[in-house]
Amino acid sequence: MYKSDHTPVLNEAPKEYMQIFEDVCRQEKLRITPQRMEIYSELARATDHPTAEMLYQRLSAKMPSLSLDTIYRTLGTLISHDLVHKVESTQNQARFEVQHIHHHHVICRKCNAITDLTWNLVDHTSLQDELHNWGKVERAHMVVYGTCAACGSAQE
Ligand SMILES: [Zn+2]
Repeated sequence: MYKSDHTPVLNEAPKEYMQIFEDVCRQEKLRITPQRMEIYSELARATDHPTAEMLYQRLSAKMPSLSLDTIYRTLGTLISHDLVHKVESTQNQARFEVQHIHHHHVICRKCNAITDLTWNLVDHTSLQDELHNWGKVERAHMVVYGTCAACGSAQE
């Protein structure tokens, strides 16, 4: 079961995200198809890091011809252009997000809720020297695991 204390879907995708989508598509010569646009926009509205199945449920009323397979393929394309990120999770099912502001994640092992976390102290820490020898680091992010307050109190 998925629990969240805030609405999992915003009314509309943040405008700056749609602008990033258009800019990246133009720069990288990625064709803007209705499917890509709708899937990106739906994910940009989501605050709950949905699975592909959850996106499918949310989009199928609006786009009846859309298949789950198309969603997976489109997510793969958007990931390769860095427009969508696959999120670390406790489940076998992958979770996704559109998030162009660097942040970290807190994951509840009971309800699998994934919450965004800004963590300035971590962001301003320089990486270990050996990582420079390892290769080119693209991004680094922290994942905090535990039991959220709601799941913790339900147990008592
Ligand atoms: Zn996130």
